[in-house]
Amino acid sequence: MPDEPSSAAPSRPSHPSHPSRVLVLNSGSSSVKYQLLDMRDRSRLASGLVERIGEQTSLVRHTPLASGGGPRDGAGGRTRERTGPVADHDAALKAMAEELALDGLGLDSPELAAIGHRVVHGGMHFTEPTVIDDAVLDTIERLIPVAPLHNPANLTGIRTAMALRPDLPQIAVFDTAFHTTMPESAARYAIDVQTADEHHVRRYGFHGTSHAYVSRETARLLGKAPEDVNVIVLHLGNGASASAVRGGRCVDTSMGLTPLEGLVMGTRSGDMDPAVIFHLMRVGEMSADEIDTLLNKKSGLVGLCGDNDMREIRRRVEAGDEQAKLAFDIYIHRLKKYIGAYYAVLGRVDAVAFTAGVGENAAPVREAAVAGLTELGLAVDAERNGARGDGSRLISPAGARVAVAVVPTDEEMEIATQTYALAGKRN
Ligand code: AMP
Repeated sequence: MPDEPSSAAPSRPSHPSHPSRVLVLNSGSSSVKYQLLDMRDRSRLASGLVERIGEQTSLVRHTPLASGGGPRDGAGGRTRERTGPVADHDAALKAMAEELALDGLGLDSPELAAIGHRVVHGGMHFTEPTVIDDAVLDTIERLIPVAPLHNPANLTGIRTAMALRPDLPQIAVFDTAFHTTMPESAARYAIDVQTADEHHVRRYGFHGTSHAYVSRETARLLGKAPEDVNVIVLHLGNGASASAVRGGRCVDTSMGLTPLEGLVMGTRSGDMDPAVIFHLMRVGEMSADEIDTLLNKKSGLVGLCGDNDMREIRRRVEAGDEQAKLAFDIYIHRLKKYIGAYYAVLGRVDAVAFTAGVGENAAPVREAAVAGLTELGLAVDAERNGARGDGSRLISPAGARVAVAVVPTDEEMEIATQTYALAGKRN
């Protein structure tokens, strides 16, 4: 199947000396998500996930996909699903390898060029995708104190994949890398410099592969080069972050030392007076761990109204639920503040791009976020905003000074693209 280059793709001989497949792995603490792509035509060959690793009821879901389509191509495959114990990441990757082999896409294929790993925290060390070796593994490990939930899981996935294919380039693509271009004025907290430096306390930002991909796609949608446009990217998923991108380089982003800072999220509070923490410790007699859980898992939309799914919140708002309406209003208020702040940071804004689960699907969120901002050149056209569509599209009125767009994110494609480019340089 992947041996035939699509007519749209630049022709490249299908020969083991020109492997063109990239496996993208996103390893969480109890899950592994994967996609296999063919970079000759940027088609997706398979995708899947293993969930609830370590439990008796682990889920393995695998979908073979037709090759030759565009980035959103999903046609052609029948999803296979099974539940049963998957003991650890090693077993999870083996389950993945078995599923891929059933479709003739086994990991032993000479067509496989590299494995790209999503790594959440690269600190200040990693500004670009990086070929993983022992020194890189050590550095990712040293960053665990600033990413205690994510980096250990990412490391486990990497080590397991390295054991499976030690001969292949394994490449780390960091969520933080796109944000390393932030100036010190945006990256530093206004706290004692020595203390900050000693403990690596600064603003790193996350969702970087998404912000990179979406800002570039937005430029493409406008028919311009990324260097020529200034974009505010609003990545609104269960986690949410905003970024200000000037000429293709990030100059500010809303997440900080950890993904807790910034926008109101599904379960995270976003911005807050840090003294709330001392107050909860002293007056509420809560421990640091309890407050950590409160702010990361029981706050945001779920803390405000009991739901973190925007579909359910909108349904409740439509039904007149006051609690859901307040949660929605707080979410929008924060979002609008960031749009205003990043407008000021950038000075000139060419586009505001909405992406991720909420940003791509929730028209009422997009409408409310720019409501009343016509003085800034920002508005949505009701019909365009309400229309359904899969690809990137403008939702601002024709001739608007600032484009407002929906730009579906594609972190796997971005990781695969960066991985393939780096693997190619090594060959
Ligand atoms: P993500 O983290 O990007 O996968 O986004 C997940 C979130 O997107 C969910 O928690 C929902 O709040 C939201 N979402 C997904 N589909 C829709 C939809 N059709 N309308 C509104 N919100 C949606």
